[in-house]
Amino acid sequence: MASPEFYPIDIVIMTASSAPSQANERLAAVRARLEAATRQSGRPTGDVELLAVSKIQPTEKIRALYAAGQRAFGENYVQEADGKIAELTDLPDIEWHLIGPLQSNKTRGVAETVHWVHSVDRLKIAERLSAQRPDAMPPLNVCVQVNISGEASKSGCAPDAALALIQAVNVLPRLRVRGVMGMPEPDIGEPATRAQFTLLAQLFAEAKSLVPTLDTLSMGMSDDLEIAVVCGSTMVRVGTALFGARPAQ
Ligand SMILES: *Cc1c(COP(=O)(O)O)cnc(C)c1O
Repeated sequence: MASPEFYPIDIVIMTASSAPSQANERLAAVRARLEAATRQSGRPTGDVELLAVSKIQPTEKIRALYAAGQRAFGENYVQEADGKIAELTDLPDIEWHLIGPLQSNKTRGVAETVHWVHSVDRLKIAERLSAQRPDAMPPLNVCVQVNISGEASKSGCAPDAALALIQAVNVLPRLRVRGVMGMPEPDIGEPATRAQFTLLAQLFAEAKSLVPTLDTLSMGMSDDLEIAVVCGSTMVRVGTALFGARPAQ
């Protein structure tokens, strides 16, 4: 047993040396899963972007994953995102995505800081984001979130409202509508998960016929990214498999 004087230092050294290699290993493992799924789907390598979902994870873990080569990070909670973005301004080309529900009284800070919002589910939010996006910044990239599981508790617009919303968002001057985002109901088994991803993929195809510049189908998480890629995902949002289990809040 180390003396109390040295004990804390041991812990600091262990943490400092193991964090980067763990980030490297996890990133390599997720990239390998993504590549295998992309290849099995007959799609070109690099066809699917990886968004690292860092919600509730400490900024040191974001730094470690950034050092390993990851650039795009997704956050769910506006206040938490604000703090982390301010703390990590020294990472030059980091890209921030808001993927959690957005209330209209919180749009300004978001419009002024992030690169993407995946969770636009009504026109009022889109209009505010467009009006509040600073002129000095490039247009804000947005996805329309669709409730593909039909669960009342889930955010997202109804599937039959998605096309009209995408077209309305498409004319807002300071937004660039990129596509759609959705989440299947958890733990329903592969066939049902696939059915919900397929619904979103079909909506995406219909939307693209109306707005040809759309290029983003945001779906797939740690447990179902392979199914999402087979169904056509172009961006998977992965948290646990990259960072480990989220700390208790
Ligand atoms: C938390 C979250 C994820 C990542 O989930 P994991 O299972 O940890 O990979 C992806 N998308 C959204 C919208 C989330 O809230």
